[in-house]
Amino acid sequence: MGYALVNGHVLDGTLDENGQMIVHDGWAVIVEGELLTAVGELSTADLYGHEVVDLAGAYVLPGLINLHAHLPATGKPPKANAKPVDYKRLFDTLSKVPPALAYFMSMEKSSARNQLLSGVTTLRTVGGVMDHDARIRDQVNAGKALGPRMLVCNTGVSVPGGHFAGSLATEAASPEEAAAHVRQIAETNPDWIKLMITGGVMDASEEGEPGVLRMPPKVVRAACDQAHKLGFNVCAHVESPEGVRVALENGVDSIEHGASPDEEILELFRSNDSVDVCTISPALPYAIMSTSESHAPEAAKANGKVVMDGIIECAKACLAAGIPVGLGTDSGCPFITHYDMWREIYYFAKYCEVSPAFALHTATMVNARILGLEREIGSLEAGKSADLIVCEGNPLDDLTRLRSLRYVMCRGQLITDPKPRRQSKVDRALDRYL
Ligand SMILES: [Zn+2]
Repeated sequence: MGYALVNGHVLDGTLDENGQMIVHDGWAVIVEGELLTAVGELSTADLYGHEVVDLAGAYVLPGLINLHAHLPATGKPPKANAKPVDYKRLFDTLSKVPPALAYFMSMEKSSARNQLLSGVTTLRTVGGVMDHDARIRDQVNAGKALGPRMLVCNTGVSVPGGHFAGSLATEAASPEEAAAHVRQIAETNPDWIKLMITGGVMDASEEGEPGVLRMPPKVVRAACDQAHKLGFNVCAHVESPEGVRVALENGVDSIEHGASPDEEILELFRSNDSVDVCTISPALPYAIMSTSESHAPEAAKANGKVVMDGIIECAKACLAAGIPVGLGTDSGCPFITHYDMWREIYYFAKYCEVSPAFALHTATMVNARILGLEREIGSLEAGKSADLIVCEGNPLDDLTRLRSLRYVMCRGQLITDPKPRRQSKVDRALDRYL
């Protein structure tokens, strides 16, 4: 019979010609099956035959889209004086876990579920263990598990000694190996292909190391050519200007994180139709927290600052040049939980100096376009998937209102009083930097 959501304020996710998101009072939202069938000023007759959900003055907006998450990790911060985590060993262990158990761990330990309960109705995962992400996606699609719509990379492609090599990515030592790895990953039914082109903050032991180019241009080229030939887009971890240049010169479609670009790099973005995915969340704890709080080495603090500045400069320069900029959290990294998309939206407005309306539009409509799903998701319009969230106050006045929601709906399935499993320590630590 479907739902009729009434007595709410509707933010449909679109911007008007002045860049404003209009608050539509007196609008209703009608859901039938998995779809929105009407959004607008409706008569009582239109509501007939639907279960009426009285929003009592709450705000309804499109479900959030998170472009960057790693399901196997929880975002738990390191302990004081902890030995550095041996990720390779950890993921080596994980990769030996039978698929059924791995699925149980990922779902019950609630990565995908937490994303959904925090308002993320579409999630792109960009580096996991083997084909576990695709299995979780398929379980969700079959209605056997609670989670958002998912687009997955499964495991990524790195190089020996590169970012996440041997854990969330395989090691390709040559262009031929890279192409072969892409073909193997393609067999596991992914939606995108992920490359690890430069180093990252977590694997840098010295200052100035995070963005060091690890993947040779020819390897990037071979992987991208093979992925494109098989019909996949390529997203890539890059944290230095040189890395961004090599990625764009060799076919990468989506630059994850980014770094301060020059004119030539902006021209490469334009001529390739590539996009930038801004992820302030993973760099911020390193860059801003004291090392006594982040429990990160001094080098990671300095590197975190370089990376955070680069991410912000890349997003700002792309926006100014008319290049699409999307948003993702990098959930799974230390301090980045699976229920924190609202923080990335908040940081984007704060550090990239965009309006709350533009930040929300980015987390919905722009991200939908980056995924090529703008006809299905990203705004509240008749004919699109019934993906929406309801929060108590106007998020345009205060983006932190997105942190707890009254309802989440994904593909027409209504979740009342959604409660992600929270990590109070992480919340307290990050709230100090709002
Ligand atoms: Zn990542």
